[in-house]
Amino acid sequence: MTDTIGIDDIGRMIRSAADKIRANRDELSKLDSAIGDGDHGMTITRAMGIAEKVIEESENKELKGLLKAVGWGVMGVDGGATGPLLGSFLMGLSNGIGEQDTIDCPTLAAMFEAGLAGVRRQSKAQIGDKTMMDALLPAVDAIRQEADAGKSIKEAFHKAAKAAENGAVSTKEFQARFGRAKNLGERTIGHQDPGATSIALIFQGFFEALS
Ligand code: ADP
Ligand code: MG
Repeated sequence: MTDTIGIDDIGRMIRSAADKIRANRDELSKLDSAIGDGDHGMTITRAMGIAEKVIEESENKELKGLLKAVGWGVMGVDGGATGPLLGSFLMGLSNGIGEQDTIDCPTLAAMFEAGLAGVRRQSKAQIGDKTMMDALLPAVDAIRQEADAGKSIKEAFHKAAKAAENGAVSTKEFQARFGRAKNLGERTIGHQDPGATSIALIFQGFFEALS
């Protein structure tokens, strides 16, 4: 059995993630109202909308170039932390692949690790700092573990979505140490981080696109 995905699958995954975000826009803004300025649902919806638009309109037929264009578009979304962070993740994905147009599970792991490296250039946040990293780091780890264990791409995204969801829920326990929420200090404890919640929704969207 050949277990690979191509440019059309990646397009479907991004559209599916954008749908998830849109469906939860108000909930995400509500989370941000508790510990930030209440705009996260709007900003992440706009960011994912741009990602979709680039995919629809791009003449690019090769994956590396397309991912770069998507990342570049999302990076330009203004209105806070989200655009640059998510944009550098998406742009970073392109650094993990060569010119190939089909991706197997080990390549996928390298791709997501490269995405993470892209975000790391923008943010020093670690697990427990109550940011999107609390969802992103375990999700990328899960993909790597599944790839190393010889599992399928679908299994890898299943585990990644679960890991991201657990990571997002775990942020309730933490005090924010980065971003706008940092100013509220201990008052952030008990609230789930909006950015981590978005990452969990995005990975759930990725997984559902492959189901
Ligand atoms: P802003 O805080 O600028 O209004 P958003 O509301 O769109 O931006 O996004 C807030 C989210 O961004 C937070 O919930 C957190 O997950 C994430 N975030 C903020 N700063 C950082 C950072 N330095 N590193 C990682 N994630 C961050
Ligand atoms: Mg905000």
